[in-house]
Formats: sequence, C-alpha cells, structure tokens
Amino acid sequence: MTRKILIIEDTPTIARVQKHIALKSGYEVDIAESLSQAKELLSKNKYFCAVVDFILPDAPSGEAVPCTINADIPTIVMTGNIDKKTRDTVEKYPIIDYIIKENKQAYQYLEKQLLRLIRNESVKVLVVDDLASTRNYICNLLARHKYQILQAEDGKEALAMLEATPSISVIITDNEMPNMNGDELCTEIRRLYDNDEKAIIGISGADSSDLSTLFLKNGANDYLHKPFNSEEFYCRLSQNVDMLELMATIKRQANTDYLTNLPNRRYFFEEAEKSLKQIKRIKGNNSLAMLDIDHFKSINDTYGHHIGDEVLKGLSICFSKYFEKHLVARLGGEEFAIYFADSDKQEALKKLESFRAFIEKNSHEFSKAKIKFTLSIGFSCGPVYQIDELLKQADLKLYDAKEQGRNKVVS
Ligand code: GH3
Ligand code: MG
Ligand code: MG
Ligand code: MG
Repeated sequence: MTRKILIIEDTPTIARVQKHIALKSGYEVDIAESLSQAKELLSKNKYFCAVVDFILPDAPSGEAVPCTINADIPTIVMTGNIDKKTRDTVEKYPIIDYIIKENKQAYQYLEKQLLRLIRNESVKVLVVDDLASTRNYICNLLARHKYQILQAEDGKEALAMLEATPSISVIITDNEMPNMNGDELCTEIRRLYDNDEKAIIGISGADSSDLSTLFLKNGANDYLHKPFNSEEFYCRLSQNVDMLELMATIKRQANTDYLTNLPNRRYFFEEAEKSLKQIKRIKGNNSLAMLDIDHFKSINDTYGHHIGDEVLKGLSICFSKYFEKHLVARLGGEEFAIYFADSDKQEALKKLESFRAFIEKNSHEFSKAKIKFTLSIGFSCGPVYQIDELLKQADLKLYDAKEQGRNKVVS
C-alpha cells in the first residue's frame, strides 16, 4: 500500500531533508512551497499525513495548520521556535505533534513519528470504559495516530473481545465499571496472557493514589490519571507499543537461525515437544525427517564459504515453502529437520522423496554460482513421544542413507 505525505515547507533545503526522510520511511512525497500550493494539492489528492511548516510566505501565523487539520489529515507541525503565541496556536488544533526545527534531534524525531504512524495502523487497541464520552475522547486520540480501535463497556465485554480478536495488543481500561472493574480485568488478562503479548494501561479519575498501585500490582504496565493531556497519553502509549515490539523482536531472534531465517534448533525442540504432548494423549503417530546436504564440505572447499552460505540460504527458502504446513528448522551446519505431527507415514515419505528429487533436479537454481548438490534424508516414524528419541532414530537412518551412496530417503 502506498502512503502519500504532503510536506508544506518553503525552505528548499529543509524540504529536501524532509522528503529524504519520508521516502526512506516508505512514503510517496508531494511538496508544497506555500499555503496556496498546498491547497491546490489538497484539492486533488488524498494524504496519509502531512508535515506542515508553521511560518510560510502566505501563511505567517500558522494558517496552514487548520488547512490540513480540516481536511482530516494527521498533521505534524515543524516550527522554528516555540514561543508562547506559537504554542497556543499549535495546541488549539488536534495535531499529531510539533517539532522544533533548530533542535539537533528534530529530523531523527520526525523519522520516528513517520514510521510510528505506519506501524500504528497494525496495532489494535481495546478501549474499556462504561462512559461513552470518555471512550470517544480516547478513541479520537487513537484515531489521530492511526491506531486500530475496538471498544468495550466493561471488563466482561473486554475479555470476550480479547478472545474473539487475539491480535489486540494494548488494553486501555477505566477502573470503576459495572460487571467487572478495571483491576479485576487486569488480573484476568494476566492470568490468560503473558506480558509480552498484551500491554495494559489503567485510567481513572478517582483521587485515591492507591488506585495506580492497585492497577500496577494487578498486572497493568502503566497508569494515567484523568484528566491527562494528549502528549502524556501518546508518550505512554507509544512506549508500551515499542516495548511489545522489542519483546517480539527478541523472541523472534531467539527462535530464528541468523543465516537462513528458518526456525532454529531451540524453537524446533520447544514446538515439537508441545505437539508431542498433545499427540501422546490421542496415541497418534509422529514422523520426523533429518536432511543433510551431501558433500557440503567440498562445496565450501571448492567455491568458498560465502558460496556455501548462498546454497544454504537458497535451499532454506525452498525447504520452508515445500513443507509450509510442517515444523521445519535448521538444526545446525548443513542439517535440517522436519517434524510431521500425527501424520500418515506413506504421505510424509512421498513428500520427502519428491523433495529429494526436486533438489537433485533444481539445486543449481539456488545460487548465483549454479552449484549442484543432493540431499540425504533419514526418516523415523511411530508412536514415539520424545523428540530426542525421534531424532536419534532419524539420525541413524540418515547415516544409512549416506552409507548407501547418498541422495536417498531411508526410513
Ligand atoms: P556428507 O555428505 O557426509 O554429509 O559430507 P559433508 O561434507 O556434507 O559433511 P561434513 O559434516 O563433513 O561437513 C559439513 C560442512 O558444513 C563443514 C562445515 O564447515 C560446513 N558448514 C557448517 N555450517 C556452515 C555454514 O553456516 N556456512 C557454510 N558455508 N558452511 C558451513
Ligand atoms: Mg518557513
Ligand atoms: Mg553433509
Ligand atoms: Mg553433516
């Protein structure tokens, strides 16, 4: 999806820098050098957001700001300085943010805001409050920053919505509500979901300072006291979304093989063990295959380690596509594994044999150097519920495949 940004800026050097930042962040860019040019562009185009210079030749007192705001475009204002008059004018309008141009970090900050707007489009926030007016106020703030919004009137309804929409990642909740209070809702959310899945921000107008403690002790990540200003709201919300993102990144990195982007050994063991437990209950059959590139060392020795890496990466892409519905991983080096949960043995073997033949025929497509290679595959199957045991058996069969001349599936 392309997102268009309107930059209204009369100083060409500044406009150029802003354009560069916007392009880098993935936007399509239009530049207006004056308010009249901006009006013309606004009449012809739809914009995702706008960056507006406070002082322009034909708009000396911030007149461009209401122009984009009234067109319903999320607006970031850039100002030379922020004296009282400018701040009063800027704060009159529901803008996203204002940035002071002379500040050294101004352009880094602009980039961060532009990236956040795109990111926010995929962040689902659930607003829980029995008062429609408060919900509306918060929803308006969220909409301005492009968050996806859901609403609930009390804790019970909120829990039902979390179940129906598991991708909700932030919950903003009032405390005093019928049916289920905010602190009870926090406790329940924390019983059901980990801290790295959902962030909770408690809100209340009650004067008791014990309430923030109650919220935090019951699992909320943050607390806002009503009335709060919009800047504080946005800062706390972004920090919580940033934290969720960071945790997701750490988790992804811990579970992914750096070279091939495939799941790594650790992830493979964890997920397979979970599945094996379930299948043990129904006394099902599990299958596991170990795949190993034949004579890989000689590819490295002949063409260099970087070509070897290319082969591993190319094979991995093909491998994960071919076995899309199964758990695949790079166990290490040139060894890979596939776990088939409760599967039909013959079907799994057929798929493995066809993959082996596909690689034999097409392996040279995976590297620029057109390296040909083959795979040996060991396969184990049965009512076995220990991952170590399944792997050991498959490894023995893999050894047999090598002994029997390689480029084979042995079960
Ligand atoms: P076989 O047919 O018996 O499997 O022989 P092989 O040469 O494939 O097996 P061997 O275990 O002797 O050698 C595996 C080689 O894989 C040795 C190691 O340097 C190389 N290797 C391991 N990890 C990587 C990697 O990440 N990148 C590259 N390029 N090579 C790797
Ligand atoms: Mg100017
Ligand atoms: Mg090998
Ligand atoms: Mg090996």
